[in-house]
This record gives sequence, C-alpha cells and structure tokens, in this order.
Amino acid sequence: MKTVTEAQKIILRHVRRLGAEFVPIEGVLGRVLAEDVVSNRNHPPCDVSAMDGYAVRSADVKGAVKDAPVKLEVVDDIRAGDSPKCVVGPGEASMIMTGAPVPDGADAVIRVEDTSRRSHRGRHGKEAHPDEVDIRAEVPCGNNIRPMGENMKLGDAVLHVGAVIRPGEVGILSMVKKAAVSVFRCPTVAVLATGDELEALDEPLNPEKIPNSNTYSTMAQIQALGIEPVLLGIARDTREHLEEKLRQGLQYDVLIITGGVSVGHHDFVRPTLRDMGIAMHFWRVAMRPGHPMAFGTGPKTKVFALPGNPVAGMVCCEQFVAPAIRKMMGFERLYRLTVEAIVSRDVKDRAGRIHFMRARLTGEGNNLRVESVGAQGSGILMSMVHADALMIVPADCICLSRGERVRVQLLNGNSYQSEPCLEGNSRSCSTHGS
Ligand code: AMP
Ligand code: MG
Repeated sequence: MKTVTEAQKIILRHVRRLGAEFVPIEGVLGRVLAEDVVSNRNHPPCDVSAMDGYAVRSADVKGAVKDAPVKLEVVDDIRAGDSPKCVVGPGEASMIMTGAPVPDGADAVIRVEDTSRRSHRGRHGKEAHPDEVDIRAEVPCGNNIRPMGENMKLGDAVLHVGAVIRPGEVGILSMVKKAAVSVFRCPTVAVLATGDELEALDEPLNPEKIPNSNTYSTMAQIQALGIEPVLLGIARDTREHLEEKLRQGLQYDVLIITGGVSVGHHDFVRPTLRDMGIAMHFWRVAMRPGHPMAFGTGPKTKVFALPGNPVAGMVCCEQFVAPAIRKMMGFERLYRLTVEAIVSRDVKDRAGRIHFMRARLTGEGNNLRVESVGAQGSGILMSMVHADALMIVPADCICLSRGERVRVQLLNGNSYQSEPCLEGNSRSCSTHGS
C-alpha cells in the first residue's frame, strides 16, 4: 500500500504539462502563461503628474505657507493624454490633471488642495483678471511626478512563462496590447459515477436508493480548478455497461471514476480498466478517508478511480486529482496551502494511516485554531459542508491534545504551495500506542 506522498509522486511522474493555446484576454484569468511578454511601450510615456494640481518650478514656491502664499500666473491647462502648450517660466504655473505630461520648465506638482484660485472668468465669460493661483505650501523638486517608464519600459520583459495570470497580469497584458495570449492548455476532464444503487439527479426520489452526489461534488472540485468537466452519468455494475462508459471516458485527458474500485463482488472498475489496456500503477493508499484509490494511465488518459464514499472521493480528489490537473495546466504550485494551527479541542484517533480530518479554523495570523467538525465517517458529506480545512493527523498519532500544533490544509481560497507538506510532521503529536 502506498503512502499519500508516494502515490502523489507516482501520479506526478506520469503527468506532463500540456501544450499551449492562444486564448483571448477575457478568458485568461487563472491560467498559466506559456510565453514571455515584452513591453512595447514606456508607461507612463513621459514624466506625468501624480495629482490634480499645478505644475510649478519648486524654487518659485519655496517658503510658501497658508498665510503667506506665493502668487503664480497660470499659463496652461493640461489634461491626461494632452501635450503641454507652454513652457513654465519663472513665476508661472500650469494647471495639470493626474496622468497629464509635466511641462518643460516645471519640476514639481503641487496638489490642488494646497492652492486657491479665483475664478478666472468674469460674469460674462470675459477675462476678469489675469489667471492667477495662490500656492499655499512649498513643494520639493520632483514631488508628485511619476517618472517616464516607472511602470514599464519599452523592451522590458514584464511577464514570464509560468506566471499565473491574476487580475494584475491581465491589466499588464492589455497595456502591451496582447488581446490574446499563449497559455498552457487545460486538460479535458470526464467524470463517471458507478453503482447499481445510485439514484440519478433527474430520477424521482426513492428512499431506498443512494443519491448520486459524487458526480456533482467532483464536478464542482474540477470547476474550482477552472475547468468545465464532461459528466458521463452513471455506469451500472456490469462489465458491459462499465466498459461502454469507460470507452467514452478514455477520449479525455483525465477520467475520474467514483466507486467500484474496492474488492467487492460488484467492483469491476480495476479489472475492466486493466482489460482495456490501462496500466494500473497503484490501487490502495494508506489514508483516511480514502484507501481504495487507483491510478492508471492509457495512451491519452490519466485515470483516477476514487473511492465511492462521498467524503473519501472528495478528499482523494483534493490530494491526487487536483495536483495532477494543476501540473497539466502549467502551475508550479500544485498543492493546497497548509498552515500550522493550535488544536483547540483534544482529538482521539486510530494510528496507522494519515487522517484528513474535516475541521474548522478560527482566529487569525499566528493564532489560528483548529477543531474537528465532529463525526468523521466517510459517508458524512455534511462534514465537508461544515469544514473549511483538513486537519492532518499523522499516521503514527493517536491523540492530539488541546494546545498542540498541527498542520492543516486549507480547502477554501485559491492559495497553493509547491510541496504537499503532509507527512513528517508527527513531532507535534503523541505517538504512543498502535
Ligand atoms: P463502492 O466503492 O462502489 O462500494 O461505494 C462505496 C460507498 O459509496 C457505497 O455506499 C456507495 O453507495 C457510495 N457511493 C458510490 N458512488 C456514489 C455516488 N456517486 N454518490 C454517492 N455515493 C456513492
Ligand atoms: Mg459501487
């Protein structure tokens, strides 16, 4: 039987990053860049104002204070995207808007709040008096000026292959006119449930039957990775029906099967896959929940056969399927973020297998606290509803006492890390007993 870490390594050895495709900018959020992006402009294109105010010669306004302002003649009104019409000479200022080019002659911008200006138009729209502004504070040379190219310079490599495209990256792509960009392809994913006992979502409710929840929780886990999976429905527990469904599933890059992977009389998934030419690399993992979990590879398809129990299937999807899919998509960080938290209530456990206990985190920063959400049966899907994290109870641990530190895997959010950090943290727990 493989440990979780061994199983993850085997899977990732068989999984490669997929090729690249061009995707319009509107659809690249969350994807991984497959090309280096070089800036085709200076941004800002010249020195520009960081404020609405007046471009001045700093020497002119030295010593200016509220009660003893310096009066300057306003010679221009420059908006963002305009070119200045005048040079600012001694005793002069140009009104300037945020992002507008700083005119020659000026070496600082004074913000509008530190100025006062009488209306420069008379009642009939005629010049009432020369345009003048009172400057009520001094300003050091260079103040409130954004230098040319402070964001990016022409020829700068602004984004690199492997970058995860977040909203900031999308903005940068638009600045350099990348209306479409090369990103790593997402795998195509199919989801297949198995079991004679399953009641499909569109069948009438029958209290005797088991509702097929795995299809939908797995679908949602794949959607959370940014992929829309294809749902293949339910394969009944006969070799023929299963084979027909598996044949469909083997058209995809990834096939996720739930149930039928154990050693029961009606568990045909492994032998059928094997007979269809899928190389099976392992079929049991030492973990709770989980355990019967197989991984195989065909000419095109990576096949994950997850346990039928709803929680076990979800936990295995998090630990095995998601990292593999993220690797195919080009991500370097494959694993859910883990943090250390303080156990807030004693935990009793059985030793032997690493346990992904559904848990809830409270507190913040260095004071994160974690507690089990209660009953941990692998069919209790409500435990996933109540949990926002998985408390990782090491295989050799039978009790975690209040106040101890334990590693916790976050289930919510979009933060990932490059190492799984699951095993080897048993320092923080009692190891007596068996
Ligand atoms: P199996 O591994 O097929 O024996 O399934 C283990 C348990 O998970 C059984 O109680 C099944 O009824 C249940 N199960 C299997 N598939 C699903 C599914 N798609 N949705 C909900 N429960 C399931
Ligand atoms: Mg079954």
